[in-house]
Amino acid sequence: MNIRVSMLPSYPDCPRRAVAKQFRSKFQKLGYTFRQLPPSVGAAAGTAVHASTAEMDRALWRGEPANVDAAIDMAVAEFNDEVATGCIWDDTTPNINIAHQQIRKMTVAYVPRMPLTINGEPAVEIGGEHGLRANCGDGWELTGHPDLIDTLRYIRDKKTGALVRPYHGQLGGYSLLVRSNKICEPGGLGMDYIPRTPKTKGQKPPIITEYPVGACERNATGIIHRIKADMIVFDSTGDLERAFCTNMMSMMCTDKYCPAWGTSFCELTGK
Ligand code: SF4
Repeated sequence: MNIRVSMLPSYPDCPRRAVAKQFRSKFQKLGYTFRQLPPSVGAAAGTAVHASTAEMDRALWRGEPANVDAAIDMAVAEFNDEVATGCIWDDTTPNINIAHQQIRKMTVAYVPRMPLTINGEPAVEIGGEHGLRANCGDGWELTGHPDLIDTLRYIRDKKTGALVRPYHGQLGGYSLLVRSNKICEPGGLGMDYIPRTPKTKGQKPPIITEYPVGACERNATGIIHRIKADMIVFDSTGDLERAFCTNMMSMMCTDKYCPAWGTSFCELTGK
């Protein structure tokens, strides 16, 4: 089975929601049904700005001036594809026109980083389309897609939310992947947070946060063990309550953001 690095920081927030998202087909085969959720504007805008800023990083590596307008056009096209069949808007981004303006502002605010050269290629979105993989024992794999390794061997992740959140487990997971695949010895971990600010406010500059390598790797390793142990309990008992805790105090515990909300997979919600 596959543990995605991106699920690590949110697993402790609500293990039940995390497995409903990551292992949906396994539970559907057991008869559970889930809500169909359109992408949130936060996730769709994040995907779009990842695309535009990655192109700017590649241009820096090639020694070319970044074509910011082309990068923005690419990001807007990606965003439109993501939301073509629906989107959960929020107070910061209530419609598509504002989303386009914010994607432009976030892209312009980003300062490109010089990627490390790995096998003659820029270390942007390392692992290509399929990402990196590492064996984590007992038939489990860790998979993920680090955004960038810079020339100081810092593994960098870009975030674009309306709120800055901590991502120790995710960065620790990328560090484990980079180390396991012998790409390089990680020099550090960094998050480039590009705020998604309301239309009425000016674009805030990016915030760079450094994370400790060893502590983040240990945090990621602990969560990986927890996921495996919880799944063993479920596979041997079939008992959701014993296997995967719920957290109805989570900020994401709503019908908008959780596919298990109001379903038999999380029977206390919606009542
Ligand atoms: S509905 Fe709430 S408690 Fe239940 S799985 Fe989702 S986030 Fe967790």
